[in-house]
Amino acid sequence: MINLETPRKLTPLITQAHQVAQEVFRPISRKYDLAEHTYPKELDVLAALIDGMNEGAENGAGAAGVRREARKADDTNRNGSNLATALSIIEMAWGDVGLLLTMPGQGLGNSAIASVASAEQLATYGGRWAAMAITEPEAGSDSAAIRTTARREGDEYVLDGEKIYVTSGERAELVVVWATLDPSKGRAAIKSFIVERSNPGMKLERLEHKLGIRASDTAAFRLEECRVPADALLGNPEIDVKQGFGGAMQTFDNTRPLVAAMAIGVTRAALDETHRLLAEADVFIDYELSPLSQNAAAARLLEMEADYEAARLLTLRAAWMADNNRPNSLEASMAKAKAGRSCVEVTLGCVALCGSIGYSEHELLEKWARDAKILDIFEGTQQIQLLIIARQLLGKSSAELK
Ligand SMILES: Cc1cc2nc3c(=O)[nH]c(=O)nc-3n(C[C@H](O)[C@H](O)[C@H](O)COP(=O)(O)OP(=O)(O)OC[C@H]3O[C@@H](n4cnc5c(N)ncnc54)[C@H](O)[C@@H]3O)c2cc1C
Repeated sequence: MINLETPRKLTPLITQAHQVAQEVFRPISRKYDLAEHTYPKELDVLAALIDGMNEGAENGAGAAGVRREARKADDTNRNGSNLATALSIIEMAWGDVGLLLTMPGQGLGNSAIASVASAEQLATYGGRWAAMAITEPEAGSDSAAIRTTARREGDEYVLDGEKIYVTSGERAELVVVWATLDPSKGRAAIKSFIVERSNPGMKLERLEHKLGIRASDTAAFRLEECRVPADALLGNPEIDVKQGFGGAMQTFDNTRPLVAAMAIGVTRAALDETHRLLAEADVFIDYELSPLSQNAAAARLLEMEADYEAARLLTLRAAWMADNNRPNSLEASMAKAKAGRSCVEVTLGCVALCGSIGYSEHELLEKWARDAKILDIFEGTQQIQLLIIARQLLGKSSAELK
């Protein structure tokens, strides 16, 4: 039976993550929002500390740890690395989601490696900071349209193409690049490859200037005759038309709940700050009264708290299912859709409730409203999550419902 109370064994991790958010992220949050593209050097010490904390621990603090263990059907409930990671991400994103995204070693590529790498690949690439490069100028939501190619030459694959919007693409040590082995074979031919950032065939073209998460670098690359060893291919090298996109998409079932967790952290930050600012104006929620019988600002805050709670519970469920090896594509998309949209609506709602203080750079509310939007875009937009949910509920294939 699922029980969504915070497991007691994870309390120390959550407390530590919250302290990091409060003591390390918050004090430098505005500084790196304003100094876009400047490397937050304060995070190096922190990353070393977290590596130390994770060594030998069953539940790590970051995205690098999410992995599904093979489990028997009669196994008891497990609160593993997915739930632990989601809970710690919620806390860290409460501090600053841009800084969280640029934490050394915690890239989405790390989740991909942790999810599907073989033991040998984990030995070679585990523990190193990995970004994730799926998006191309002509392939965003429709990742099956990827044009980057990978051709086999002896003991190597040779990658050619263009990748844009790669989070941590400049700073990471590795980039997990999606490419097709054979464009005529559709989704089944798309595989992911681990590329060393120092590979001379991978050329950094530019860094983007952005609306939010400005502490996080976002890179565009050109891949020209980029040679990688054959064992840099993640998962099965065969083109299994029956499996289709399954192998590559498996990563999303682990990473979407984590992006939802980021959204929940930012939402909580905005709500906490709004409670504080409204209290200064003598506005408090009365939980004994119906929303209609109290101050309009308090009633709006109640509405937003309900959205937050729904998003949080959906996210913990999706992460818990991943830990317990249950298929969770539907739940991962539900969590991402609800958390992403709530984050955008609640942060903007908080800006509105707090008026000119909410809009000014004096507080962080306006920044969180800007940071929120990306959480409803990357790892699949709001519309794409709804499409996935509809397909699953109606039993339609991607060809039947586009
Ligand atoms: C700051 C930032 C960081 C990013 N980081 C990464 C990263 O690390 N790695 C990576 O690979 N990518 C990354 N991305 C890319 C991101 O995942 C894509 O932007 C996203 O998938 C959407 O693709 P697109 O921008 O090409 O939009 P499009 O796919 O062109 O979509 C445009 C609009 O149309 C809607 N739409 C598209 N298809 C449908 C449909 N069938 N039905 C209904 N609506 C539809 C979309 O929801 C969207 O609103 C990042 C993007 C940003 C902005």
